Amino acid sequence: MPSPHAVAGMVSRLNDPHYARWASQVRATGGCRQPIHLRGKVQHIDRATGELLHSYSTRTEPDGVLRVPCKTRRASRCPACAEVYRADTYQLIRAGLAGGKGVPETVTAHPCLFVTLTAPSFGVVHTRREKNGKVLPCHARRDAATCPHGRVMSCTARHGAEETCLGEPLCPDCYDYAGSVLFNALSPELWRRFTLALHRRLAKAAGLTQRELREQVTVSFAKVAEYQRRGVVHFHAVIRLDGPDGPASPPPAWAMADALADAVRHAASAVSVPVPAAESEPARVLRWGAQLDIRPITMGGELTDQAVAGYIAKYATKAAECVGTLDRRVSPLDDLDALPLRAHARRLIAECFRLGALDELADLRLTQWAHMLGFRGHFSTKSRRYSTTFGQIREERAEHMRAEAVSTGRLPLFDEDTVLVITEWEYAGQGYSLGDALLAAALTGARFSDSGGLRE
Ligand SMILES: [Zn+2]
Ligand SMILES: [Zn+2]
Ligand SMILES: [Zn+2]
Repeated sequence: MPSPHAVAGMVSRLNDPHYARWASQVRATGGCRQPIHLRGKVQHIDRATGELLHSYSTRTEPDGVLRVPCKTRRASRCPACAEVYRADTYQLIRAGLAGGKGVPETVTAHPCLFVTLTAPSFGVVHTRREKNGKVLPCHARRDAATCPHGRVMSCTARHGAEETCLGEPLCPDCYDYAGSVLFNALSPELWRRFTLALHRRLAKAAGLTQRELREQVTVSFAKVAEYQRRGVVHFHAVIRLDGPDGPASPPPAWAMADALADAVRHAASAVSVPVPAAESEPARVLRWGAQLDIRPITMGGELTDQAVAGYIAKYATKAAECVGTLDRRVSPLDDLDALPLRAHARRLIAECFRLGALDELADLRLTQWAHMLGFRGHFSTKSRRYSTTFGQIREERAEHMRAEAVSTGRLPLFDEDTVLVITEWEYAGQGYSLGDALLAAALTGARFSDSGGLRE
């Protein structure tokens, strides 16, 4: 049941003479659960005469503001905007595999792999594995050792897909929490070293110098980070070989999928990142886990372009909250026990705070990124020449919406060369009041009853 306060807010909005305009603003945000409020104006002025051709101000809008979508990629914060981001990511990844959005279709003939780089083990965790459709026992060991904390290192349960113990250590006191958060923190560096090693290996295999390689081949990639249940990231990447001018140019004949797969395998096993010793923490060297998955992407084969694009797009809108942490910053001053955290996530966060306080590890900024369990990299990244950009996809959509506004007479058609456009915007808050949130949900079909997070 909505609170009396929410109902009162709803009634007053419904009785507002500007209700119709408010409702159309809300519909235009596409169900965004935390729209940004902007205050400001747009003026179109004739460059030659100085005449004011058209003027728009938020002064006449409901509450004196324009509501625009928050455009987050995080599904946990705004499902509607994250869905737009997911769809854009899909388009972007797909264009690099099948062509389109300015990428020629000939790109389908370029060698292209779907690669998963994993983290190493930091201790035994509860897992669910299937074989031929049957769920296997988690970690069955007949003569299992007992750990120094008195726990038997065996679990014979066949876990359900949604069991909360999945990803949690058999013994939290044996688990290498430091290793886990350090790996997250250094995984972007590990990835960077991996791409350098990949180039070196490709050049060596073809008998070329690195400069000669660049004159013949461009390695393009798009990758996404995914949190495993144990709270450590791994990467899924599309890696493609193009000619020297990117996707429009064919790679040389020697640059086949086999050569690329060999280079990926070699680079993944060759690279490492050192971590300096700090107080009681020993120095260590971080590497990728032994599990490496390399699969060719083909148009009609086992792993299709649609499947890969869908997979990457899905993970692009997720973050660490799926592991049971929070999707906002936490501070060492917060009482971690009072926050709605899974025990495993709580220990990972506490470990970030502990290591983040050490001078030798200050560069990793573990305290600031504790809520991400140490990972501060970008969730989805791509090389410059992979395909199109988010900017271009958004520009296309904005252009489409502008054309629609012109054709329905809402915006006059001006020649951009002769008209000066002056815009002034300021941030004036975000979100909905409780009553507005109920109405907005009804108007857009979005579900955000837990909202009402108005910030002003
Ligand atoms: Zn939104
Ligand atoms: Zn288990
Ligand atoms: Zn133990």
